[in-house]
Amino acid sequence: MRNDIERVLIDEAVIQRRLDAMAAAIDRDFPPGPLVVIILLKGALVFAADLLRRVGRPIAIECLNVASYHGATASSGKVDFLDCQFPEVRGRQVLLLDDILDTGRTLHAVIERLRQEGAVRVRSAVLLAKDKPRAAAVSVEYVGFEIGDEFVVGYGLDYLGHYRNLPFVGVLKAAVVARMGAAGGMAG
Ligand code: 5GP
Ligand code: MG
Repeated sequence: MRNDIERVLIDEAVIQRRLDAMAAAIDRDFPPGPLVVIILLKGALVFAADLLRRVGRPIAIECLNVASYHGATASSGKVDFLDCQFPEVRGRQVLLLDDILDTGRTLHAVIERLRQEGAVRVRSAVLLAKDKPRAAAVSVEYVGFEIGDEFVVGYGLDYLGHYRNLPFVGVLKAAVVARMGAAGGMAG
């Protein structure tokens, strides 16, 4: 798995240090009162597990399954809600966690839905934000790292279902992307 990586972009120790600061900011910023953390599956799982253990205040955890990528390395432009039930957020403040901010469509759609469902305050945290224009306007309060506009894997992020358990964020070798893409995601 490690052999498939062309370049490590953000190593494990750097990520962990950054999470200390993000958790401290979250602890400081949210007024007292019930806080629901919504984890966008599956990409934000690893980030959420490490971040939330640093948060000192009581939280409830919910997960949300949304799809915007459908296995490719470019956004499809459509966001689907895959769960049959939406978490109960009426009257509660919400911290939304995602792995990466790319076009902004995912967070835009989820934030909109949270407002419709009656959440009183919604803030978002992402591990990564791509430095590019957003297709959908979205404000994200907590950003771990700004990265260039390239496809990354690791620390929760996948390519065709693989690489989520790498402890760092990296870029795949072009030959690996081509080989796995051609094999319909079964290789690697
Ligand atoms: P957006 O809706 O902002 O375009 O995209 C957000 C979602 O697309 C993320 O939650 C993530 O699942 C996926 N995504 C965007 N960029 C990347 C990337 O570089 N690598 C991976 N693995 N997923 C990405
Ligand atoms: Mg995602």
